[in-house]
Amino acid sequence: MLYPTHLAAGLVASSIVLQISHAPPQEWPGVLLLSGIACAIPDLDHHNSMASKMFPGPVSNIICKIFSKRTAMHSLAAALVLHGALEFLGFGLSETARLAVVVAFLSHPLIDCFNPEGVQLFWPIGPKISLCHCLPWPFTFRTGSRIETFIFRPAIWCLAAWALMGERLGFRI
Ligand SMILES: [Zn+2]
Repeated sequence: MLYPTHLAAGLVASSIVLQISHAPPQEWPGVLLLSGIACAIPDLDHHNSMASKMFPGPVSNIICKIFSKRTAMHSLAAALVLHGALEFLGFGLSETARLAVVVAFLSHPLIDCFNPEGVQLFWPIGPKISLCHCLPWPFTFRTGSRIETFIFRPAIWCLAAWALMGERLGFRI
């Protein structure tokens, strides 16, 4: 998927955590900003991604050299590493905020499963997982396809708007 699709999914995921946890309103903007970055991070494993533009130079170059596309960086192990790093570094984030950021990160490999190429979710073991084995086209589709651009992405952005506005309008997910 392309970054705008991942951004929408990341915002949905972190908003759900913030809503369920009754996070105070002042915590939302910072967490959503970090979530917008976190949901891009898995694509540091390939050049020309938004993540590689966010973290240019040695960071993306080294990760691209070490890991194949859609393997380690798109795994549950990477989410655990991110969780551990946030716990260790703190950054003044609450437990809810850390969880919301990690869930935003996880949304990335999960929606990449709609791509026929799949992701190695259980890296370092197991094959790449794609929903194309149980969901035919148009429910699974290639990155940048018309299905992603004109149907999947707008649908997730609508969900994101609902998740973001839900707290203000008095309804919850
Ligand atoms: Zn990806």
